[in-house]
Amino acid sequence: MAYTGLCGGIWQKESPLRPREAILARIGCQASVPRDVFPPTPPGPEGSNGNGLFRVQWAAGAWLFCVRHRVVAMTKRLYYTNPDLLEFDATVEAVIPPAVGQERTGVVLQDTAFYPTSGGQMYDTGWLTTGSKDRLRVAEVAETEDGRIVHYLEAPAGLVAGAALHGSVDLERRRDHMQQHSGQHVLSAAFVELYQAQTVSFHMGEDYCSIDLEMTSLSSEQVAGAERRANEIIFENRLVTIRFVSRAEAEKLGLRKLPPAERDDLRIVEVADFDLSACGGTHVSATGQIGSILLRKTEKVRQGVRVEFVCGDRVARTARRDYTALSEAAGLFSTQLWDVPAQVRKSFDDTKLLRKQRDEALAQLAEAMAVAALNEQLERQDKKVIVRSFADRDINFAKLFAQKVARSGVPAIALVASTMDPAGLVFAQSAGGTADMGALLKQVLVTVGGRGGGSRDFAQGGVPAGCDVEQLLQQAAGTIEA
Ligand SMILES: [Zn+2]
Repeated sequence: MAYTGLCGGIWQKESPLRPREAILARIGCQASVPRDVFPPTPPGPEGSNGNGLFRVQWAAGAWLFCVRHRVVAMTKRLYYTNPDLLEFDATVEAVIPPAVGQERTGVVLQDTAFYPTSGGQMYDTGWLTTGSKDRLRVAEVAETEDGRIVHYLEAPAGLVAGAALHGSVDLERRRDHMQQHSGQHVLSAAFVELYQAQTVSFHMGEDYCSIDLEMTSLSSEQVAGAERRANEIIFENRLVTIRFVSRAEAEKLGLRKLPPAERDDLRIVEVADFDLSACGGTHVSATGQIGSILLRKTEKVRQGVRVEFVCGDRVARTARRDYTALSEAAGLFSTQLWDVPAQVRKSFDDTKLLRKQRDEALAQLAEAMAVAALNEQLERQDKKVIVRSFADRDINFAKLFAQKVARSGVPAIALVASTMDPAGLVFAQSAGGTADMGALLKQVLVTVGGRGGGSRDFAQGGVPAGCDVEQLLQQAAGTIEA
């Protein structure tokens, strides 16, 4: 796609070495664009912010937004002026057959109330009903580079250009998106008002939304402060209005957010006496409809701090889910919700202590067993080769036992196995012994396709399931004695 000239915001933070004006001059661009723009994370291939299409690219030492002006006939967006309109009549302008490897037919209408994914907001779903009352499911809605809106149908349909249709947008999903998106405006403005922190991007997901703030850190007090302020604005039920202004006018208004596009008709969304920004999304008509806002996780990201949040019905749903999980945890500990963190901490400490005690006990046991085995062996004969297979102890214990035998102070060889899953062999000899444990292990394992290895004094390996471990030990012992 061809981009008509370089203009737009500079992604990179301004530095004294590279003032914005100098870069704009170098690329022959006169545009004066504020830094507060709304991009995806660069370097994105291409994006849309609801007011224009742009691509982020590296030029003259900075990330630039290259904006394409919309010149082709765009679909008339009914939601621009009436975001509450969910039922509408429309005419098919074009039918786009599925692309190779795709199944969905695309339908372009002359007018539509369906919102396409753009500006961080997700697409609407709904139905298109034909004159013969066939109901076609709209599974996804997207925007083309030239500003047309494509409705992707779940199943193929025999539609032709010029056909009359009735469109119905799914109410619940749209209302949810309006709540999330409007909540985002209020929250972003609250962060500016309280901490002078600009929002640099917005993401809406199925579960939660997030904004990226231009700040280096965010304390939990600041999170609580922004949440409180945003909820105040919601409670005050301030009017949210939409109007269209020229770019020159917009620049004079002092918007919180001005898109990089050089379009002359900007859609301005205003939260009365609180926020003014250019946006193409669907919003509620008064802040009370947002319901409430709940801030959740925050994390450091490359461009600042990311704040996750939910609005409207999602607040109760998310809180309910959290409560259920926390209640279950409290039930397991037979404690109150607020005591769960302390109980978890105590449980961690207990586990750590028990693990330490268990390791000490196992080491003592291995030591005692090694001494007993050596004594028994020494009484019978002077060959100090200990052959032992453990059915009820794991390979780590087998290793511990073998090491205790080898380090007992008496020159000895330990040929040890564990038949517990995963079964394995451990061969060890006292330092300076004349045998080669690594070579011996390899020699035994090769007969059954096992894997392992080690040094002259210590070797360890795994044996395949179902193989006769006792027989392998005898084979190794035979080699030592020979
Ligand atoms: Zn918006």
